[in-house]
Amino acid sequence: MTITPLMPVYPRCGVRPVRGEHCHLIDEDGTRYLDFASGIAVNLLGHSHEGLVGAIQRQAATLMHVSNLYGSPQGERLAQTLVDHTFGDTVFFTNSGAEAVEAAIKTARAYHQNAGEAGDASRFELITFHNAFHGRTMATISASNQTKMHHGFSPLLDGFKYAPFDDLDAAKALIGPHTAGFLVEPIQGEGGIRPASPEFMAGLRQLADEHDLMLVLDEVQCGVARTGTLYAYEQYGIEPDILATAKGIGGGFPLGACIATEKAARGMTFGTHGSTYGGNPLAMAAGMAVMEAVANEAFLASVREKGERLRSRLEQFIGNYPELFELVRGKGLMLGIKMKMESRPFYVHLRDHHQLLTVAAGDNTIRILPPLVIGDAEIDEFFDKLSAGAASFKVPEPA
Ligand SMILES: *Cc1c(COP(=O)(O)O)cnc(C)c1O
Repeated sequence: MTITPLMPVYPRCGVRPVRGEHCHLIDEDGTRYLDFASGIAVNLLGHSHEGLVGAIQRQAATLMHVSNLYGSPQGERLAQTLVDHTFGDTVFFTNSGAEAVEAAIKTARAYHQNAGEAGDASRFELITFHNAFHGRTMATISASNQTKMHHGFSPLLDGFKYAPFDDLDAAKALIGPHTAGFLVEPIQGEGGIRPASPEFMAGLRQLADEHDLMLVLDEVQCGVARTGTLYAYEQYGIEPDILATAKGIGGGFPLGACIATEKAARGMTFGTHGSTYGGNPLAMAAGMAVMEAVANEAFLASVREKGERLRSRLEQFIGNYPELFELVRGKGLMLGIKMKMESRPFYVHLRDHHQLLTVAAGDNTIRILPPLVIGDAEIDEFFDKLSAGAASFKVPEPA
C-alpha cells in the first residue's frame, strides 16, 4: 500500500506543529515559527489564549453536545450577540465555512422558492465572481469559476453564473428571470487579498434592491474583526441580506454561522435545514469567548491601528525590493503583498529558512494574516524575518 493514512489531498510541508504559544508555533523538533498565517485567518486570539481555552475547558466539563431537538441557552446567547452586533436578525450555526456558505445559498434560494405567494419558485441562480473561493462542498465549488477545484467532480451543481470580480456592469448583465441573488467575498482571500471597490459593493446592493435579489456576503475569511470592523461590509456602508461567517469566529474551534435578516430568512421554516453538531454548547462557548474579546470598539480600533502600522511599514519595505514586490493591498490585518512573480517560492523560503509563516494566494500574492493580538514585538520580529528573507531570496529560474 502506498497511500498515506491521511488522504493525500494536501501537499503537506515539513512544518509539523505540536504546540502554540501566543503568536508562535513550535514544531515536533522544537523549531519556533512566527505565525502570520493564523491557520488561515482562524486563530485571531493567537494560540493558547487564556480566555478562549478556559471557556472551552469549562464548557467541555459541563456539557459538550446535545441534539438541536432541545432548547439551547448557549446558542440563543451567541445568536443574540451576533444579532446585536450585525445587520442580522437570525443565525444558523454550522461547523465550517463551507457549511455556512451552503446555508447561505439555501437561504437565498428558499427566500424565493419557499415564500408562497410572495415568492417565485423559478428563481435559483446566484451570480458569483471570478477567482472566488467559497469552500469545497459540491455547492461551494460550483459557486466558483476556478476549474482547478472542479476537476474530477462533475457534474457541478446547477445555478451559478460567474462575472469578473469588481465588474458591476458584468454582474448586471447576468441578471435574468431565474436570478436569486449575488454571492460575493467583499475582500477575496484565496483570490489574492483583493478588496472590492466601494462602488461595486454599493452597486450590487442597489441592483439587489431593484430586482428583489439576495445580497449574500461570504465573510468567512474577512469577517470577525480581521479588517478592523467586526465585519468588512461595515466599511462599505452597505448591509447584506445574508452573510456567511466562520474561520475567526471560533478562534480555532470549528464554528461557522449563516446570519440573515428576518426578511431574507423567510423561507427557512421548520424542517428545511439542520445540522447534528451545528451550535453545540462547546462551539457556542468558544464563539462567546471570541466575541467577548473582539466585539468592542477598543479591540477593533487596535486592529485598525496595527493594520495601518503594518501596512505603511510593508509599503516602505517593498520599495527596497522593486524587482520582487509590486504592491500591498487589503484592510486591517488582512494584508497581501503582490509579487512580480509566482508567490509560492517566496512563501516557502520565508517558512523554511526564516521560520516565518504566511500564506500563498492567487494573483502572485503572499497573505499576511497575523493573530489580531500581535504587539510591537511580533511586528518587529516579522520585519526582521521578512527583510532577511527578501535579502536572501533567489528568484527561481523559470522552468
Ligand atoms: C476558508 C473559506 C471558506 C471555506 O471554509 P471551510 O471552513 O474551509 O469550509 C469559504 N469562503 C471563504 C471566503 C474562505 O476563505
